Amino acid sequence: MKKITLLTIILAAVVLFGCQKPKAIVVVPEPVEVTPKGGQFTIDDKTMLCFDNLGANGTETSKMIRDLYESYFKLRPNLGDAESAKKNSILFSISKKEIKDIGDEGYVLEVKAKRITVEANTTAGLFYGMQTLLQLAGTDKLADSKTFAVPCCQITDYPRFGYRGAHLDVSRHFFDTAFVKKYIDLLAYYKINKFHWHLTDDHGWRVQIDRYPELTRVGAWRPERTSWDTLHPVMPDEPMTYGGFYTKEQIRDIVRYAAARHIDIIPEIEIPGHCSAILAAYPQYACDDYPYTVAVGPYWPPKAIMCAGNDGVLTFYKNVLTEVAELFPYPFIHIGGDEAFNDNWQVCPKCQQRIQDKGLKNEFELQQWLMNQIEHHLDSLGKKAIIWDDIVSDDMVNTSTIMCWQGLDVAKTAAKHGNDVIMCPTTHCYFNYYQSKDKDERLCMEGYVSLGKAYSFDPMPEGLSEAQQKHILGGQCNLWTEFVNDPETAEYMILPRLFALSECVWSPKEKKDPKKFATKVDFERNLMKKLGYRPSNRTVMELE
Ligand SMILES: [Zn+2]
Repeated sequence: MKKITLLTIILAAVVLFGCQKPKAIVVVPEPVEVTPKGGQFTIDDKTMLCFDNLGANGTETSKMIRDLYESYFKLRPNLGDAESAKKNSILFSISKKEIKDIGDEGYVLEVKAKRITVEANTTAGLFYGMQTLLQLAGTDKLADSKTFAVPCCQITDYPRFGYRGAHLDVSRHFFDTAFVKKYIDLLAYYKINKFHWHLTDDHGWRVQIDRYPELTRVGAWRPERTSWDTLHPVMPDEPMTYGGFYTKEQIRDIVRYAAARHIDIIPEIEIPGHCSAILAAYPQYACDDYPYTVAVGPYWPPKAIMCAGNDGVLTFYKNVLTEVAELFPYPFIHIGGDEAFNDNWQVCPKCQQRIQDKGLKNEFELQQWLMNQIEHHLDSLGKKAIIWDDIVSDDMVNTSTIMCWQGLDVAKTAAKHGNDVIMCPTTHCYFNYYQSKDKDERLCMEGYVSLGKAYSFDPMPEGLSEAQQKHILGGQCNLWTEFVNDPETAEYMILPRLFALSECVWSPKEKKDPKKFATKVDFERNLMKKLGYRPSNRTVMELE
């Protein structure tokens, strides 16, 4: 009997300790340097959360880190400072002496059996260190454990690019503030620091502008159709019930929410095309007297364009942008400029007069002139423009930051021209495209970006000089919502491909490894499910 008991104890000990596999270190995006050490730290209800030397916005930072801690671990930590950070404590501190090489967003995370320390030069670095710490505890989060083992290790980490973005089109389908916040949380978790908010387009105007109330009274609403593919135009008796917009108060709230998560918001106001919603509300800004309505489905090419020969149009845009600039503290505003089909300009007397008056060669130059006028206005507001790459030409006079969707060659031309560039080529970054070729895949925009293809994205085009490379600020993924009707579909489209994008813009190029990445996807996806997101279950690493 005694023998059996002893054997049982030995067996139990072997199961509990001897055979325990070391916890895997799974972090997305892959950090710059990870050194595993033996043992683990255990987060439990006695763990102290300590802060030191956080500086001016210390209260906000410590509150944010504590909120993340409580919502992830479902534990209320005791709080302390550097003095009290001894056994069973996690200490977040801004280094008194600048830590070399990690810059403004990097961090050094050290996990020892008795204590965890996160050090950085800034509060943004501490925030990212916290996100990594949450990921290190992922195994027990998945297991619904009440305590959380964190494998001992040392991590030194910082981003490859300063611009790490994700976009959301809220015009083609409207997404409420609760979802926008959930989306921002997701971006923050993967160390994305820019949210490109596509607020206006043919299918709905989504931002309150006091001076032009019809934009949201008329321009934010269209008939409810069950399918995007219903092509017939709006009928006179159809109720305009589908849509929505954000009040200024809601926008300020979202801006604050994002800022606390170290995310800048880039609002986009489309100029001069993609403007059916404006023309439905203010038809006097069109070149013709066509009865424009808020668009209800796909059509190509889009004919709606604002009249570049009408001074009222310039005044309209300037007034709108003045109000937009007041809402968003980030210095950049995206002013569109893509797919501006200028058929109307070619036959509009006012537009032709403008071409003549300004000594322009053609309608393409008319668009450049218009965008330059807007740029000057932004300048007077202390803001700078981001424009889609449609405007790029060898002899352009434009100094704005170029957002490249059309590919590497256009990006190179822009960088060689001296413009800053943000990369989001359709080939790798359009997450509204199909992610698998499975027969039961849901309906998407025609195009294909597998998870593997998204992972193969390198924001830095080859063949640029060192000076030109400095113009490549980073990259972003775009989620256009023609076929993305609701939050569930948005999450399905962006996950797991956001995992890939985050490594492309954060991790060092030499650390990227498709095989290792593929082994992390399931774990990461399950974590996302645990956190309330609804990722796609497809994992297609093949490139074509
Ligand atoms: Zn015109």
